Amino acid sequence: MSRLDVFINRMVSQRACLDHAAAATAHLEGPVFELGLGNGRTYHHMRETMGTRPIFVFERAVAAHPDSTPPDDMLILGDVRTTLPRALKRFGPTVALIHADLGGHNLEKNDAFARLVSPLIEPLLATGGLMVSSDRMYFDRLKEQPLPADAVPGRCFIYG
Ligand code: SAM
Repeated sequence: MSRLDVFINRMVSQRACLDHAAAATAHLEGPVFELGLGNGRTYHHMRETMGTRPIFVFERAVAAHPDSTPPDDMLILGDVRTTLPRALKRFGPTVALIHADLGGHNLEKNDAFARLVSPLIEPLLATGGLMVSSDRMYFDRLKEQPLPADAVPGRCFIYG
């Protein structure tokens, strides 16, 4: 499989999983978290498709497309290793949907980082909430959920 195929599968899977998780958590009142703004493509999609749901964005250095830059009061700037424990104090276990796309090109590093942040993410999710990730996560309580039909196994994961 070419790198182009892998990239396309990742994009298609992100969209399918986000749309699926958005619909499945639409009845929940809690906020939505986007971990890793990057270029802002997934954040822009979430804003376009999630109506008035509040979306808080976690990013250490904002370099997004201007259309995809969150307002200051919805941006939680800093390293997620610091900002997620603070967010737990602020929000408690209320978050309806968490999307994480924090990785880069090094799969080993991504896996190590996913292991590190999993325990910081798990306590934030509300009962009935869903977590969508580009990397496999390592949760104690949350279980891997079936993917929607359009998603490619291994390119995106859903936990709840
Ligand atoms: N989903 C985004 C999109 O559609 O454009 C792409 C996200 S990009 C792959 C990953 C982002 O996560 C980068 O902007 C990077 O700065 C951020 N990131 C990585 N590690 C982080 C950390 N420890 N704390 C905060 N942000 C981090």
